[in-house]
Amino acid sequence: MLNVVVAFFIIAIAIAWIWLQPVFIGWRRKQIQKKTLSLSHLAIVEKNLPIYNNLPITYKKRLQQHINVFLAEKQFIGCGGLKINSAIATTIAAQACLLILNQKENYYPKLKSILVYPSAYIVRATNPIGDYLVEERQEVRLGESWYKDRIVLSWEQIEYDIINWQDGHNVILHEFAHQLDGEDGSVNGVPLLDRQSDYINWASIFGREYKKLQSDVELGLKTVINNYGATNPAEFFAVVTETFFEKPKQMKQKHPELYKQLKRYYKLEPMDWN
Ligand SMILES: [Zn+2]
Repeated sequence: MLNVVVAFFIIAIAIAWIWLQPVFIGWRRKQIQKKTLSLSHLAIVEKNLPIYNNLPITYKKRLQQHINVFLAEKQFIGCGGLKINSAIATTIAAQACLLILNQKENYYPKLKSILVYPSAYIVRATNPIGDYLVEERQEVRLGESWYKDRIVLSWEQIEYDIINWQDGHNVILHEFAHQLDGEDGSVNGVPLLDRQSDYINWASIFGREYKKLQSDVELGLKTVINNYGATNPAEFFAVVTETFFEKPKQMKQKHPELYKQLKRYYKLEPMDWN
């Protein structure tokens, strides 16, 4: 009988925890959001998020709140001898939170850790050849998103991207776009959309634009969207996210429908601040 009572209480506590956890997380985030970003952190954001000073005041305030929550919830790990300091953590938080500025406040729910290397890093990659052979090779990488709980970045590349904000390449925006893409369980170039009907438009416009980029790349034509986007639909979404935030004018001019889809998804208009 005692065992039944104990089991009952354990199950009751587990159910209560499952039910209360989101409430507790929401309450804690609201408390963090009430705090203002420290002046030293703000100075880093102003320096390392080049479009920050052009944002409307409401966006600035919201971004500061998001950065505080992000810094409180995510773990930063220095790799290859790099020591994480507030410049590194705040820069990554600021650029990552730009993507979710007007999104639902779930702060990349699957992501736990951000690993940062001082510069490009080498990984041992495997590539299956046929059914029985696996090719092993070393690859140099600037960043990657491990779809479940971690992102890997190169600080040297981040510093380069800050100076070259309008070149359409940004490793932080790229890897965090993969995180958004993976929130529905599959990294396939289609993130979670608001309405069921949105998926039809997304598939039609993204499908067409992806094929167009592939053919432009094959023909060797100059494109606003980086060639790497032609690799697969997941890379296409990450790359067009970089283009949307860094080259909005060119993108709107050359790819108006794609721009409209991204504007609808991110609920932002980067044309106003670039
Ligand atoms: Zn990628």
